[in-house]
Amino acid sequence: VSVSALLKSRIRTVRDWPKPGVNFRDATTLFHDPEAFRATIDAFAEDCAKQEIDIIAAVDARGFILGGALAYKLGKPFALVRKKGKLPYKTVSEDYHLEYGTAAVEIHADACKAGDRVLIVDDLIATGGTLLAATKLFRVLHGEVIGVAAVIDLPELGGSKRLRDVGLKVHALCE
Ligand code: IMP
Repeated sequence: VSVSALLKSRIRTVRDWPKPGVNFRDATTLFHDPEAFRATIDAFAEDCAKQEIDIIAAVDARGFILGGALAYKLGKPFALVRKKGKLPYKTVSEDYHLEYGTAAVEIHADACKAGDRVLIVDDLIATGGTLLAATKLFRVLHGEVIGVAAVIDLPELGGSKRLRDVGLKVHALCE
C-alpha cells in the first residue's frame, strides 16, 4: 500500500469536535502506531533528501513530535514555533487570524541565521494561517523558508494553495 493509503487508514476522524459539524482529523493515532509513525517520518525524510535544508522547524504541539523525529533522523538543528508567551529568551512574534479571534506564534530571535534554509513541519494544513505565520517569523530573521511538510492537507480549505502562492513547496502525505 502507498504511504498515503496507510496513513489515511490509521488517522482517526472525530466527528463533531471541537464543535458540531467539524470532522477533526486526529493524527495522535499515528504516534501510537510505530509502523505508521515510522512511515510518516521516512516519507518526510525522503522528500527532504531532494532539497538542501539547514533547519527543521515545527509548530506547537503535534508538529513537535513529527519535527523532532525528523530532525533526529536527518541530523539537523530543530527550532520550536510556540504559542505566544512560552519561550524564555528574546522572541519574534506574529499574530494571525483564526476562525474566531486571533492567535500568535513565536520563535526565539536566534532560531535561525540569515540565509538558513528552513523546513516547517506541522500535522495538518487547513487554512494555512498557522504555517503562513510561522513562515513570516523565519523571514523576519532573514531565514529562507523553502517549504512546509504536513501529514494531512485539507485542500478544499485552500491552505496549501495559499502557501504555494507565497513561494513555498508544500509536502503533504495525504489529503
Ligand atoms: P490552519 O492554520 O487553518 O491551517 O490550521 C492548522 C492548524 O490547526 C494546525 O496547527 C493543526 O494542528 C490545527 N488543526 C486544524 N484542524 C485540524 C484537524 O482537523 N485536525 C488536527 N489539527 C487541526
